[in-house]
Amino acid sequence: MHKQVDLRSDTVTQPTPAMREAMMAAPLGDDVFGDDPSVQALQARIADITGKEAALFMPTGTQSNLCALMAHCERGDEYIVGQFAHTYRFEGGGAAVLGSIQPQPLTQGTTGEILLAEIGAAIKPDDPHFARTRLLCLENTWNGHPMTLTYLAQATSLARERGLATHLDGARLFNAAVATPEAGADACAAARHIAGYFDSVSVCFSKGLGAPVGSALCGSRTLIARALRWRKMLGGGMRQSGVLAAAASHALEHHVERLAQDHALAQRLAQGLAGVKGVSVRSAQTNIVFVDVADGQGPALLAHLAQHGVLATGLIGLRFVTHLDVDEAGIDHALACIRQFFSEQPGSASLAQSPRSAVY
Ligand SMILES: *Cc1c(COP(=O)(O)O)cnc(C)c1O
Repeated sequence: MHKQVDLRSDTVTQPTPAMREAMMAAPLGDDVFGDDPSVQALQARIADITGKEAALFMPTGTQSNLCALMAHCERGDEYIVGQFAHTYRFEGGGAAVLGSIQPQPLTQGTTGEILLAEIGAAIKPDDPHFARTRLLCLENTWNGHPMTLTYLAQATSLARERGLATHLDGARLFNAAVATPEAGADACAAARHIAGYFDSVSVCFSKGLGAPVGSALCGSRTLIARALRWRKMLGGGMRQSGVLAAAASHALEHHVERLAQDHALAQRLAQGLAGVKGVSVRSAQTNIVFVDVADGQGPALLAHLAQHGVLATGLIGLRFVTHLDVDEAGIDHALACIRQFFSEQPGSASLAQSPRSAVY
C-alpha cells in the first residue's frame, strides 16, 4: 500500500520539523497589546515583500479579505468582483452579511479575468439610486491561473481612473509570482511587482507555503489601522500568536522558491494524463490541475482513488492540487491508479463538461 497522496488542497500540508522548531523557539508576547515580537517580525517582513507600508497577521484568508473589504468600503458601498471569485462565492457572503457591502459580481473568462468593458460599465454613477462603487477586487492566482501583468495593469488603472480602490485576493500570490518570472528576478520581487498594482493584498501562509495557519493583509498604514479595528471586532485579535507567525516567517524564508517544484509536479500529472482515455485535462496552471472525466464517472474514480490512498475533490470534473507533502512517486502512484481505473472501464463514453469547481 502506497502512503497516502492527498491532492485535495495545498492546505493539507503538515508543518515540517524545521518549521516546528522555529515555532518552538519563537519569542512571544501578547499581540492584542501589540508586543509579540514574532508577529511584529512577520508583519514587517510581509509588508516589505509586498512593498506596502504595513501588514496585519490574521487567522485566515477569509478574515483578511473581509477586513480588507470592510476597511475599503462603508455601509452602502459596492465592490466589483468575479462571479467565481473566492471573496464572493466561497466566504459565506461575509461582505454583505457583516460589512453591509453590496457585491457586484461579473462574469470571468477562463483565466479569471473580468472584461475591462464590463468593469467600466458596472461602475455606477453618483446617484442616490445606486450603491457607491468603491472597490475592484481581483484574485491571483484564480483556479491556479496566474493573471498577466498587462491585464493587472489595465484593470487596476481603469479602477483608479474611475476613483475606485483596488484589492487583490492573493491567497496564492506566491504561486502567481513564481509563474510570472517577467514580474521580477526572484519570487519575492515578482510578488512585490504584482502587489504593486493594488492598494491592498491578502496572502495565505497556510496554502502552498505550508504553514499550519495564517494569512496577512498588507496595505497603507491608514488602511491597516482600519483593518485592525475590524479584525478585533471579528474575533481575530490573537494573543501569543507569535507561535503561528513564526511558522509563517519560516515559510517565507524557505518555502517560496520551492513552489516551482509543486508547479512541475502539476505538469507531471497533466502530462501523464494526456494519453489516458476517459479523462481530459481542462487546465494545469501553477499547482492546480482540473480534469474532466467521462460521463458520470467522477464519483467512481474518486472512490477508486481513495481506496488506493489518493485523495482529490470534485464531482464531474476533478481537482488535484500539488504541494510540499507530495513528491514524484506520489504523482506517479496517482497516475497509475487513474490509468488502472479507466483500463477496467468498458469503452469510455464522451467527456462531460464540468461546471467550474470550488476552490478552497
Ligand atoms: C483559501 C482561499 C481563501 C481563504 O483562505 P482561508 O484561510 O481558507 O479562509 C481566499 N481566497 C482564495 C483564492 C483562497 O484560495
